[in-house]
Amino acid sequence: MAKSGKNWSEEELKAAVDAYLEMLQLESSGRPYSKAEINKRLRDNVLSNRSKGSIEYRMQNISATLHELCLPWIQGYKPASNVGSRIKDQIKEMLSRKGAVDKQIYLPTAEYEELDNKVQALRSGLKVALLNGEPRGITTPEKVTSSTTSHKRDPLVKAWVLETANGFCEACGSSAPFATSGGIPFLEVHHMNLLADGGPDTIANTVAICPNCHRRLHHARDKEEFKNHHDRAGLNEA
Ligand SMILES: [Zn+2]
Ligand SMILES: [Zn+2]
Repeated sequence: MAKSGKNWSEEELKAAVDAYLEMLQLESSGRPYSKAEINKRLRDNVLSNRSKGSIEYRMQNISATLHELCLPWIQGYKPASNVGSRIKDQIKEMLSRKGAVDKQIYLPTAEYEELDNKVQALRSGLKVALLNGEPRGITTPEKVTSSTTSHKRDPLVKAWVLETANGFCEACGSSAPFATSGGIPFLEVHHMNLLADGGPDTIANTVAICPNCHRRLHHARDKEEFKNHHDRAGLNEA
């Protein structure tokens, strides 16, 4: 069977993205499906010029795009990211048109309340995504000046750090002192190298800690010593 070696058309790519999202939905709701059957269905229709393998590879490209955005992807399609940027942009565009990618929620913000709303939305809706990869964060958080100076922070970094702490202070190991009205264990996120001192807003520079340890890191006489014991590098070694 002669298969086309030509670039994928918009229509072909869209058929692959639609089928991928269909499978992702089935998978995330725990319903069974057959990748082989769906692949066959695609070849019987829009993708009649493509081989089974090339469709599989496209699915892996879609996984790579979702993985890059820290969104859930189908575990059976290992991300294959060596794909042209034109195709990747097309895939992103299609995913966002289908509502699978909400860019707005990932935009950094200096507004505390807005940051927190985004963090909450990320934590409640994208639990799986948070564990699919470590957010890259912002190396030099943009400075925003109003009456007070603050920094635009990455909601995904704050959400990831709180989520992975899993309700336990990363400094003293105690469980969060109380739950919020939403039932979430209350922890605070601290930048080991302060943003005000030019520290990055990344997971490597942040810890989720109880209010007690947080105040201690800021105000205690032994704060330098305490800090050296509890930065993330130290925690990972322990
Ligand atoms: Zn603590
Ligand atoms: Zn702090």
